[in-house]
Amino acid sequence: MNTPKSKSHSTPHRPSQGGIDFRNRVKRDKQKAEAHAPKNTSAPPRTGNPMGRPCLILKADRDKSLMRRHPWIFSGAVECIDGAPASGDTVAVRDASGKFLAWAAYNAESQITARVWSWREADVIDKEFFRNRIASALKARRALGLGRDSNGMRLVHGESDGLPGLIVDKYGDVLVMQLGSAGPEHWRDTLADILQELCSPVCIYERSDSDGRELEGLPVRSGVLRGALPKHVEVVEHGIRFAVDVAAGQKTGFYLDQRDNRALTGTLSADCDVLNCFCYTGGFSLYALRGDAKSVLSIDSSQEALQLAQANVELNGFDPSRTEWQCADVFEAMRKLRDQNRKFDLIVLDPPKFAPTAAFAEKASRAYKDINLLGFKLLRPGGLLFTYSCSGGISDDLFQKIIAGAALDAGVDAQIVKKLHAAADHPVLLSFPEGAYLKGLVLRVA
Ligand code: SAH
Repeated sequence: MNTPKSKSHSTPHRPSQGGIDFRNRVKRDKQKAEAHAPKNTSAPPRTGNPMGRPCLILKADRDKSLMRRHPWIFSGAVECIDGAPASGDTVAVRDASGKFLAWAAYNAESQITARVWSWREADVIDKEFFRNRIASALKARRALGLGRDSNGMRLVHGESDGLPGLIVDKYGDVLVMQLGSAGPEHWRDTLADILQELCSPVCIYERSDSDGRELEGLPVRSGVLRGALPKHVEVVEHGIRFAVDVAAGQKTGFYLDQRDNRALTGTLSADCDVLNCFCYTGGFSLYALRGDAKSVLSIDSSQEALQLAQANVELNGFDPSRTEWQCADVFEAMRKLRDQNRKFDLIVLDPPKFAPTAAFAEKASRAYKDINLLGFKLLRPGGLLFTYSCSGGISDDLFQKIIAGAALDAGVDAQIVKKLHAAADHPVLLSFPEGAYLKGLVLRVA
C-alpha cells in the first residue's frame, strides 16, 4: 500500500503553571460566588456556569481562532487549567482576561486540547443540548430534500454540524455511529439514546475504529450499541442498490460522500470503456454500468471489497460480462495497463486519504501525481478523468497544481470541466474549512 502511515502524536502538552494571578482570581471569584449560592437545594441549579466547572484559560493573544469560531483549541494556546477535568469533561474556555469564550470537551491526551460544543455561556451541555443539536442536523437534511435520492445518508457530520468528533451515518434502518474524540466518547450512551429516540433505527452500530482515535488516546471499539444488526444491510442510492458491510467495511461501511459524483459519472459513461481505480464496493462502476458503459474495469487492493462489488452487480441485475475486476495495487496495475497499451474513455481515481494532515502533503503529492500522470496516459483523446482527493492535508489549490503537473508530464492538454465536492449531507461549516476534505476535478483531455 502506498498510503502513508498516520503519525504518532507527540507527548500531550500539560499547560504550565503560568497565569497564576488569573487562577487565583478565578478561585477568589468562586469563593465569593459560593458564599452567595443558595444553600440546601436538592438539585444543582441549571446554570450555564455551575460552580466548580473546570476552566481552560488561553494564553494572551491566542484566542483569535476561537473568535473566528474555529472549534479546536490546540495545546499550545492553553495557558493553564483550573480544576482537574478528565478527558471528555466539559470545560469553560476563557481568554487571558477571564472572559468566557466557549464550552468545550476537554482531552488531555490530544494535541487538540478541547473542541467547542457551544459559544453561548447560557448553554448547558447535557442530554437536551445534544438532542437539540442532533434534531437540527436531521432537520437540515430534511429541508434539503436529501432523502429523495437515497436512503443512505450522513446524519451528523462532526464539527460542521456543531458536534465535534461525532459521525452518524444511516444505511436504511441501521445507524452507524463513529466517535472520533473524547467529547462524544464521554457522551456515548446519551448520544445512542437520543438517536434511538429520534430515528427509531433497528440497530445502532458503533464503528469507533478510525485512525484518529489513536491521536486522541482512545482505544478502538466496534459493535452493536442498540438493537440487532440485520444480516443484510443495504442502501438504495439514485435507484442503485448497494450491500453495505457495516461491521467490517471501510469507514462506517460505505462512502456516502461520493453519491452525487458517482451519479454524474453514470450520466457520462454511455459507450465508454471505463477504468475505476480504488473501486471499493463498486460505487462508480455500478453507475457506469447503469449508464450503458461498454466495459468497466475495476481495481482495488481489498479482496473483500471486490467480492461485495461483484455481489452488488448481481443485486442490480447488471450484465457481468461488461465487467472486469482486478485485485491489485493501483500504482502497479496502472503501469501494467500502460505497458499493455490499454486505453479508456473515462477514468475514475478515488484513492484513500494519502495526506491526513498537511505534514504528509509532500509525500502524498507525489502519489497523487503518479496516478494522475498514468491516468492521463491511459485516456483516449477526448476522454474524461474524474480525479479525487479526500486528504485534509491537500488543499483545493494544491490538488489542482498537482494535476496540472501530471498533465504537463504526461504531455496532454486538459481542461477542468467541473469541480466536485462531497454531497450536501457532508456540509462544511464556514468557520471550519477542514470540513471540506473531499475535492474532485473532472478533466477532459484534448
Ligand atoms: N470510490 C469508492 C471509494 C474508494 S475508497 C466508492 O465510491 O465507494 C478507497 C479504496 O482504495 C478502498 O477500497 C481501498 O481498499 C482501496 N485502496 C487503498 N490503497 C490501494 C492501493 N494502493 N491499490 C488499490 N486499492 C487501494
